[in-house]
Amino acid sequence: MSSLKLYNTLTRTKEPFHPADETNVRMYVCGPTVYDHAHIGNARPVIVFDVLFRLLRHIYGEAHVKYVRNITDVDDKINARAAERGVSIRDLTEETNRVFQADVAALGCLPPTVQPRATEHIVPMIEMIERLIANGHAYAADGHVLFSVPSMADYGRLSRRPLDEMIAGARVDVASYKKDEMDFVLWKPSKDDEPGWHSPWGRGRPGWHIECSAMSWKHLGETFDIHGGGIDLVFPHHENEIAQSRCAFGHGVMARYWMHNGFLQVEGEKMSKSLGNFITIHDLLHTEKFGGRKWPGEVLRLAMLRTHYRQPIDWTVKALEEAERALLAWHDADHFDEVAPSLTPPEQLLHALSDDLNVAEAISVLHALRKTGQMSALKSGLSLLGLYDATLCLSVRSFDPASDLTPESRVKIENWIDARLAARAAKNWAESDRIRDELASMGVALKDNKDGTTTWEVKR
Ligand code: AMP
Ligand code: ZN
Repeated sequence: MSSLKLYNTLTRTKEPFHPADETNVRMYVCGPTVYDHAHIGNARPVIVFDVLFRLLRHIYGEAHVKYVRNITDVDDKINARAAERGVSIRDLTEETNRVFQADVAALGCLPPTVQPRATEHIVPMIEMIERLIANGHAYAADGHVLFSVPSMADYGRLSRRPLDEMIAGARVDVASYKKDEMDFVLWKPSKDDEPGWHSPWGRGRPGWHIECSAMSWKHLGETFDIHGGGIDLVFPHHENEIAQSRCAFGHGVMARYWMHNGFLQVEGEKMSKSLGNFITIHDLLHTEKFGGRKWPGEVLRLAMLRTHYRQPIDWTVKALEEAERALLAWHDADHFDEVAPSLTPPEQLLHALSDDLNVAEAISVLHALRKTGQMSALKSGLSLLGLYDATLCLSVRSFDPASDLTPESRVKIENWIDARLAARAAKNWAESDRIRDELASMGVALKDNKDGTTTWEVKR
């Protein structure tokens, strides 16, 4: 029995966490809309829920935790961006997703168990909408299908917003076909040049909220344990997911625990394109736009984790430098490289994380372990937080060059090459050679080009 406690937005309290089925812990987190490079704020839920995923795997066993993070690849922002750039929607979403996967792998995040794509789940979306119409919670009008908010007696329980605020929020989009101003779109018609699928209501496409309800249903069932995302998603996105799933399946709950990360701002200001402080994960890792230098993925990860996930976080150069100093202190500690990680992470660290992911406390445990020379425990603690694999292993060792390369293996190889380029830039020749040898031992040969780039091939 674990003593894990999590803050549940539904009840506004920290609650003991008990999965409905200990052999199948189920978590869903809203993933990216793939129209542009993910910004550093988008990295926050990815990193936070990766720590929770790792902790759950430790507690319940790797085979007993299913983590689903979707890829929203149908959305009006995508259509607009593809038209603007003169590329096909498919090319835009594929390329953006590829960069996203590489970005978050560089941040030391494990791939979720399943990453469903919205465009591959149109059938269950239509099925859910049909159910909602059949049981009186939705209606078709003018090629659209709308969810009828007044049909659900306790709509609004998650966000606890006063009715007039919700109405004001919904008013952004008043249309003649709505019976009530709060009703929201489940399905809408597509023009000939817009992506569309045949449906009982004509050729059209889904609204954003129904995508997550359908994908979580297909991969986790009608009710599941944890649903996560950023705090901005509480209303209307999560409120509407709950309305759709509960009314379609007739349960009192969709997810039992709702978790939300706080927002990130940059150097004390809201991140926005117009303020010029809009910063992508890709820029931090690969360019010198922030603080005049590139930053290793594990520095970004630690900087993100030092603030409790529910608090707002201020993204500053100073915070990155502090995170880097902490990482160096651990990795440069005497005898760090000589010992293997202990089999189980230190008890105090588990204790800290079990208190609604108190990572700040977990980090002070790591500092204490270094001070007292407990290197095995330090290593295994770093590993549980995803701060050890990201630096040294990236689990590339389990990669088999004889089999076909998966996209994950490619991402891992490319991350190693980036790490080696960074080591060379820092004139850390020992590290750069170590990475080259490591890759060579797995059959990956590197070639350094005159223009400073490195290409690779698999020698069979
Ligand atoms: P979006 O692509 O806008 O739907 O966002 C993807 C995820 O990133 C969602 O979980 C958002 O809540 C989260 N997110 C977006 N902006 C920020 C931010 N500035 N700080 C923290 N999380 C954010
Ligand atoms: Zn969602």
